[in-house]
Amino acid sequence: MKINENYLNLEQSYLFSTVARKVNEFCKNNPDKKIIRLGIGDVTLPLCKAVIDALHKAVDEMGTKETFRGYGPEQGYDFLQNAVKGYYKKRNVELDTDEIFISDGAKSDIGNILDLFSQENTVLVPDPVYPVYVDTNIMAGRKVIFADANKENGFLPMPDFNQKADIIYICSPNNPTGAVYNKEQLKKWVQYAKEMNAVILFDAAYECFISDDTLPKSIYEIEGAKDCAIEFCSLSKTAGFTGTRCGYTIVPKNLGMLNKFWLRRQTTKFNGVPYIVQRGAEAVFSEEGQKEIKENIDYYKENAKIISKTLDECNIWHVGGKHSPYIWLKCPNNLNSWEFFDYLLENIQVVGTPGSGFGKNGEGFFRLTSFGSKESTLEAMERFKKLFG
Ligand code: PLP
Repeated sequence: MKINENYLNLEQSYLFSTVARKVNEFCKNNPDKKIIRLGIGDVTLPLCKAVIDALHKAVDEMGTKETFRGYGPEQGYDFLQNAVKGYYKKRNVELDTDEIFISDGAKSDIGNILDLFSQENTVLVPDPVYPVYVDTNIMAGRKVIFADANKENGFLPMPDFNQKADIIYICSPNNPTGAVYNKEQLKKWVQYAKEMNAVILFDAAYECFISDDTLPKSIYEIEGAKDCAIEFCSLSKTAGFTGTRCGYTIVPKNLGMLNKFWLRRQTTKFNGVPYIVQRGAEAVFSEEGQKEIKENIDYYKENAKIISKTLDECNIWHVGGKHSPYIWLKCPNNLNSWEFFDYLLENIQVVGTPGSGFGKNGEGFFRLTSFGSKESTLEAMERFKKLFG
């Protein structure tokens, strides 16, 4: 037996465990101090009524012989595929149902899609970014190169036509920076992918946070993208499904073998998302569901506004928050990411996420999220004003 030694090449992820350890230690030594957590990447509002009603109904169906369901289609029930298809159609993106694969969330599909690609491919990943892209490729032993995202390019790196890549990750709106590509910029990436004969893996997990209609929510809003891009989407952040688990992946038939291979991969290694969950997900796309999830997203975006306004008042450089739940700030006084983490914890007991945990270009930056309650966000910002105002 030989193990996959590529796992030894993974960097230990100390980010969230170190955050938890530092916070626990602080709490033990300062039991009277109240911590406010603005580091969480998880939603806090409950599922909306349309979803809950649909879930209840589906549970009842499972309890009756006539309506009980066992194994479903691995790629998802057609009622949910059609709901997703309708959702894209509203944005003038035409998809066939057999290009839509229902999943248990974006993270697993982002990792699993790599089954379709040879180990020899070179992978281009923005830095900083959601760490799953790098780690899943290291596990497979692929060469990873980076596209630097920094203050100068607004955390939106553009392709370097002199650099060869085969698999390109794009995350827009971006985690952790909140930066969003516009159509012109994505057009360049599509052009680059075609020139390189590469595939773009487009992570649209935060598309629902985009409120400017001129900004693309799907890469397929760009002409030609169906020839070179796979898109991952999730109901986690858009509809509070982080614990319920449902998402979808689009593999266009224009990508030739990849569509067939993905179906083959899923039917072999995956047994589908529970019927009950898919009924809940279907309700997200109903008129009522869309209205209700928008209310929740607006709630988070109001928090983001509160954070952004306070940072402006404190003269702290930041981006994001407008089309994203994430606010990405430059640590004041040239502190590094962990020094700033400690400084906030010691002085105002506000917990965020050190930017260095998302890649080398994240050093000196810090991520705050708008997923907390309005009350705690307001209180955290009052504390910021006292410290920096
Ligand atoms: N993609 C990005 C950019 C994320 O930030 C996350 C979760 O934080 C995911 C994907 C995972 O989403 P899911 O809950 O659907 O697995």
